[in-house]
Amino acid sequence: MKEYDVVVIGAGPGGYVAAIRAAQLGLSVACIEKEKAGGTCLNVGCIPSKALLQSTEIYASFLHEANVHGVTYENLKADLDVMMKRKKGIVEGLVQGVEHALKSKHVDFIVGFANLVDPHKIEVVRGEEKEEFTAKNIILATGSEPVSLPFLPFDEKRILSSTGALSLSEIPKKMIVIGAGVIGVELASVYSRLGTEVVIIEALDQICGGLDDTLSRTFLTVLKKQNLTFHLGAKVLSGQANNDGVTLNVILKGMEEKETMQADVVLVAVGRRPFSEGLKNIGLDFTIRGFLPVNNRFQTKIPHIYAIGDLIEGPMLAHRASLEGAAVAELIAQKETSVNYLAIPNVIYTHPELASVGLTEAQAKAFNLEILIGTCSFKANPRARCMGETDGLVKVIADKKSGRLIGMHILGPNASEIIAEGVVAIQNNLTLESLVRTPHAHPTLSEAILEAAENALGKSIHL
Ligand code: NAD
Repeated sequence: MKEYDVVVIGAGPGGYVAAIRAAQLGLSVACIEKEKAGGTCLNVGCIPSKALLQSTEIYASFLHEANVHGVTYENLKADLDVMMKRKKGIVEGLVQGVEHALKSKHVDFIVGFANLVDPHKIEVVRGEEKEEFTAKNIILATGSEPVSLPFLPFDEKRILSSTGALSLSEIPKKMIVIGAGVIGVELASVYSRLGTEVVIIEALDQICGGLDDTLSRTFLTVLKKQNLTFHLGAKVLSGQANNDGVTLNVILKGMEEKETMQADVVLVAVGRRPFSEGLKNIGLDFTIRGFLPVNNRFQTKIPHIYAIGDLIEGPMLAHRASLEGAAVAELIAQKETSVNYLAIPNVIYTHPELASVGLTEAQAKAFNLEILIGTCSFKANPRARCMGETDGLVKVIADKKSGRLIGMHILGPNASEIIAEGVVAIQNNLTLESLVRTPHAHPTLSEAILEAAENALGKSIHL
């Protein structure tokens, strides 16, 4: 039976990074994966959704904006088949890239379903075959799976999880999305841009819970302008799928009578839960919500068994899992390391994008922090005007005493990219003053960050 210093279960962005970093640090490593390298993010999450968002954004921008730029066309068409093939090609190329990276860094990449047999032994099942390995250390990076509603089990034809919604063969006429979280609004955007009538039902009174209030309100207004219909504070009571579509019984906010809604397909995007099949035979305890508790060194109650990523509490984000993957490998190799959770950005890839890092205004106030706040609308940003993308704003939040940036929230064009300035600032304890002193090229979107910082310090030039 082959023995390794480290066996990683799961080859998503947490697991494969942990495996590679452990191998780089001189440990013998195997990484076991039940499906394909890259995990949810690469195969059925971040990457395929961004590929489709890009294709549909190009279509939508021609449809709605080309005229303004003096660009005209005849017979504009969106070919979903081509979009899906393009998406598939991107995913396959990146999966190969991850497999190559594992191999070239001397990680044994093993495909099969891993079961923990005892605290040092892992059984891998591949069809009829079974194989066992032993490990001095085990890193659990098994990720998460979509949560379904009890009365609407996924069939991936009419009742879709995000996985099914990323692989539709035709553009539905009408789609109901249950859950206005990140997945809900991103995939609603994809299909609404292609002409689908999209209705979103959300249990809470706000979309994408946890956003800074100022941006949350503007975000909802902007999305509504894109023909997305939202029912907030609504409850889906029951539902049924048949050959023609899906019927839902819904109680809308403030109503006593239930309402019947129909659609060709329903996307259930009400969250994800940790995936822990195969990990439950050796006495590890899980929380009620299915997370595996760990200490600040990612150790479970069995100290040589570690867990990272979506399997443990925290934001379910690929880049967070990767940071934890590198950190846990370094800890196993006796190196000191840490993850700065305050500096982990969050991005929603709608149009415009929404990106944030650090504390919201409400969180800062809940910590009784005295804060400085500055904002800059993209209407005041020359580059955004040239792009014709003036919806949104930048908001910065700083600790009043030290001037240190503690939060940055951006709704606007390319927010996913320019948020990096806020991430670097928070990671390195930079102040508003240092943001203001930092040269920003003109005309760029990032000047809105500079102006928001100036605004917080009471020295705006343009506002
Ligand atoms: P989520 O937790 O972000 O949102 C789920 C939403 O569904 C919530 O607003 C919740 O109130 C609502 N909801 C729950 N039950 C409901 C019900 N019965 N009826 C109506 N509404 C209901 O979950 P998600 O959007 O499914 O995403 C899952 C995870 O994946 C999240 O942690 C998310 O951060 C992550 N993710 C991130 C990205 C990104 O970074 N761009 C993209 C996709 C997913």
